Amino acid sequence: MIFERILRWLYPPKCVLCGKVLAEEETDFCSCCRIDAPVCPVDHRKKLPFLDSWLGVWYYEDSVRRSLLRYKFHGVQSYAKPYGQMLAMKLQQNHPDGFDLLTWVPISALRKFTRGYDQVELLASAVGAELEMEAIPLLTKVRHNRPQSGITGDAQRRANVLGAYRVTDPELLKDKKILLLDDIITTGATVSECARMLLTAGAKEVHCGAVAIARRKKRSR
Ligand SMILES: [Zn+2]
Repeated sequence: MIFERILRWLYPPKCVLCGKVLAEEETDFCSCCRIDAPVCPVDHRKKLPFLDSWLGVWYYEDSVRRSLLRYKFHGVQSYAKPYGQMLAMKLQQNHPDGFDLLTWVPISALRKFTRGYDQVELLASAVGAELEMEAIPLLTKVRHNRPQSGITGDAQRRANVLGAYRVTDPELLKDKKILLLDDIITTGATVSECARMLLTAGAKEVHCGAVAIARRKKRSR
């Protein structure tokens, strides 16, 4: 107990989103962020190709965006657990019947090597711990494409990921209801391509969950 207090004094825990030092009664998120974070509503009418459903915890903007950048590019791997808890809670609320298998959108072996970790794999393990499911690598990335973040245009993003993923073991996913996780959904091209591969290999349904969803900009004509 005393040790914990000293540790807290030396390394005060900070809010996962805004980075503010937390009050003693707060865990992971400060009370402001718990209220004001841009929660992404679940709109069942919005469709993404090949996905039976999809949802995200927050919109990808402001403190959420900065938090995910720290997680993805600055080694703050400890965010996987609080992200995973929030995502798992939302998935349980929207899918009370659960899923047969849990997997994630993998990064390439080269990117995992240079980054030192696969941030989506860590997220999948954290969600799996909450849902009492093992995260299974059903997909592998076979082509090291350009990062989607540097490409504008829906068609270009679809083309960039086409054929980039392979199913590891088709036998595993026959007639299964699959939960596919990613960290950020921007246009949905990546998760749609992964879902297409899983369905082609025999999966029954693919549902997607992400930490954050980018708001679609209005098309200028
Ligand atoms: Zn905060």
